[in-house]
Amino acid sequence: MAEPVRVRFAPSPTGHLHVGGARTALFTWLFARHHRGVFILRIEDTDRSRSTEEFIVSILEALRWLGLDWDEGPPTPGYRQTERLEIYKAHAERLLAEGRVYRCVCPPEELEAQRKAAQAGGQTFRYGGKCRDANVPPSVPHALRLKIPLSGQTVVQDLIHGRVVFDHSQLDDWILVRTDGSPTYNFCVVVDDVTMKITHVIRGNDHLSNTPKQILCYQALGYPAPAFAHIPMILGPDRTRLSKRHGATSVLAFREEGFLPEAMVNYLARLGWSHGDQEIFTREELIRHFDLAHVGSAGAVFDRAKLEWLSNHWIRQAPADRLAGDLVPFLERAGLPVPADRAWLARVAESLRERGRTLAEMATMGAFYFAEPSACDPEAASKFFTVDAVPRLKLLGKRLETQEPFTPEALELLYRGLAAELGLKLVDLAQLTRLALTGRTVSPPIFQVAALLGKDKTLARLKRCQAVVEGKG
Ligand code: GLU
Repeated sequence: MAEPVRVRFAPSPTGHLHVGGARTALFTWLFARHHRGVFILRIEDTDRSRSTEEFIVSILEALRWLGLDWDEGPPTPGYRQTERLEIYKAHAERLLAEGRVYRCVCPPEELEAQRKAAQAGGQTFRYGGKCRDANVPPSVPHALRLKIPLSGQTVVQDLIHGRVVFDHSQLDDWILVRTDGSPTYNFCVVVDDVTMKITHVIRGNDHLSNTPKQILCYQALGYPAPAFAHIPMILGPDRTRLSKRHGATSVLAFREEGFLPEAMVNYLARLGWSHGDQEIFTREELIRHFDLAHVGSAGAVFDRAKLEWLSNHWIRQAPADRLAGDLVPFLERAGLPVPADRAWLARVAESLRERGRTLAEMATMGAFYFAEPSACDPEAASKFFTVDAVPRLKLLGKRLETQEPFTPEALELLYRGLAAELGLKLVDLAQLTRLALTGRTVSPPIFQVAALLGKDKTLARLKRCQAVVEGKG
């Protein structure tokens, strides 16, 4: 590519970062990193009534969590639209001086009535151009409208959708600056993209219809338009646009559920982009392979089961000590005591990660490591806690008491020997132990569990179980 790539992610802080926005940010970031370009973060907060500081903080946090670092943007001043009002003003004044925009004094109520009438007749309202040649004096309060060509077409050469043609009869002389002096959204975007020297505008499909208006504004300003790539929407399983109706959509809600950022990034990257039939990507692989040519032009369906599958993959890949640290808030949230011994916690995390789809799930599944299980699975209890259970538990307790070392391998040998001695299957003794130690019939490998709990806890739980079966517990 001839000129250095400069791209931006431009969220409006009117809500938390949702998966659609996060995917746009990710594609833009990957494009920048792939081309060794610059990734800019711009906060589009001109809609003051709906933008909040809280949402800005939350969006930045979500981007950081995903590891989408920006080269330019907050906290450096000048990357929030509300800090750039003078820049918009200067550009509007230049357009006025050059006759590319005109003053309009049509009362908003009058335009609103026309809009309603058009809507009632099933039509889209377009400003009729009443003030276009009216030479409104500057002293009268006025809006500024862009003079667009009355005939012809504007063609968007979209990198994802190809050639999209908009007839000028579909457009109107849109407002750049309102009567109260505030610049409109489309005008700010164009001025920002020009002054930030953006080479590629990568954004959601919902902005495709704004693009011809923006291209005409670039032309009026005398700048070449950047390249455009409009990413198709994310759909719910019912193929309507993904929304809260389909469950959690905010990125931070997925963090709260205990997904790892690697899983989220991997999942979002594959949501609409492909590289052969590869599903699992490290961040480096994504940077190496990402291109807009392989972003599909149809909407992609959000598939939670696939996210969970990837999440399990990345949980299994994560270094155990990192997983241990990540698990801590989830233990706290589950009301479980956090062990001081991090090395032990790392071993516990390792034992839980095979089945864990999220950190929250790992905490719940592994609760017995941190606190004595309060109850047994009743169905399993009636199956395993028969009259034979008491002597078996007693014998197990006796043999385990003198067992050294208390390692999974040694315990397995002990159990095998004992099963042979009693003429039982290993699984019978193992399930009984599992129920006593974990309260459940499904857990990580039971000798691993016993070794991690240690001899004292193992013996205490076997004893307690014995008391329960004898009706004394
Ligand atoms: N602020 C817009 C949004 O959040 C993005 C505009 C753009 O990327 O051009 O949808």
